[in-house]
Amino acid sequence: PLILGIESSCDETGIGIARGTTVLANAVATSMHRHAAYGGVIPEIAARAHLEQFIPVLQQALAEADVDFADIDAIAVTAGPGLIGALMVGVAGAKALAHATGKPLYGINHLVAHVAAATAEGVQLPERTGALLVSGGHTEILKVGALTRDLELLGATRDDAAGEAYDKVARILGLGYPGGPVIDKAAQQGNPTAFKFPRGMTARKFMGTAEEPGPDRYNFSFSGLKTAVARAVEGFESRGEEPPIEDLCASFQEAVVDVLTDKAVKACTENGLENLILAGGVAANSRLRALLAERCAAANITVLTPEFNLCTDNGAMVALLGAALVSAGVPSSERDFPAVSTLPVQTVSH
Ligand code: ATP
Ligand code: MG
Ligand code: FE
Repeated sequence: PLILGIESSCDETGIGIARGTTVLANAVATSMHRHAAYGGVIPEIAARAHLEQFIPVLQQALAEADVDFADIDAIAVTAGPGLIGALMVGVAGAKALAHATGKPLYGINHLVAHVAAATAEGVQLPERTGALLVSGGHTEILKVGALTRDLELLGATRDDAAGEAYDKVARILGLGYPGGPVIDKAAQQGNPTAFKFPRGMTARKFMGTAEEPGPDRYNFSFSGLKTAVARAVEGFESRGEEPPIEDLCASFQEAVVDVLTDKAVKACTENGLENLILAGGVAANSRLRALLAERCAAANITVLTPEFNLCTDNGAMVALLGAALVSAGVPSSERDFPAVSTLPVQTVSH
């Protein structure tokens, strides 16, 4: 089937087109630069940007795929989770298109779409697959039984998302927004053991034991780490010294990546998952990729990383999930479905 996928859950307006698992177009306009002055995404600004970009991005996607709108078999749109105002722009646009053309419409789950990105170009998701989703808005470990109907949330962040921690720490260090790429780069010149920063939720009371697993075994917390970096910086400043940016970045990054990889590997091992999808904007991180590869190899887990443009928020992953739903014979959504900011991962489409 030829599917149009629409994504507007955060700060990327993404419209992609997929024929089955073949991505024909992946047009994205980001409003990231408009949030830069604030050090994080401002929901209202993101929603306004979606409204401005919706039609231009749609036109770009159709041109890129070289298809007519009339040839599209079905439309898929992110219905949640995400910023409610941002989601509503995409959902309203998709409903209008579906209503005017009579095409079937699927309101889909953004997290599952991130997983669906791994199915591009005919990749069959192996049985026993996990997913580590790490971005500005989420940090989650999922267990994927079947893409269209069987997903389970094993763990998630209790406070900041991993990318959010990068962005906040970059702000503390005066490195600008988004923080991920700058910190990644600065960290390469620094010493990851210069500062002993906390590994959130790794103490015994969170992890439990093999016999008695703790409630936060697969959960994350990054806000204590962010505070620890801020305290360290304050210490240098109060002594009138320049904070060692590169060492701070390297030590912060090591703390984030250590916990992410450790818990993801534990979740896979303890749940019999032999494959792990790495997705989300933080999947671009060089240290995360290296340490995950190392620890997964040691635990006999195969890492699947979609191409970077399919890892960050985009419409092609939404189209890929739409195609999977159509192929699986899942009925399309009722036309009155809502946008839900907290849509649970069990709801693949609604
Ligand atoms: P959502 O959470 O809904 O997926 P998002 O827009 O916040 O939305 P992405 O666009 O997938 O997420 O990713 C953006 C995040 O990824 C930012 O927080 C950014 O700092 C982080 N990021 C990008 N590159 C890197 C990198 N090399 N290392 C670490 N973090 C990175
Ligand atoms: Mg983004
Ligand atoms: Fe996302």
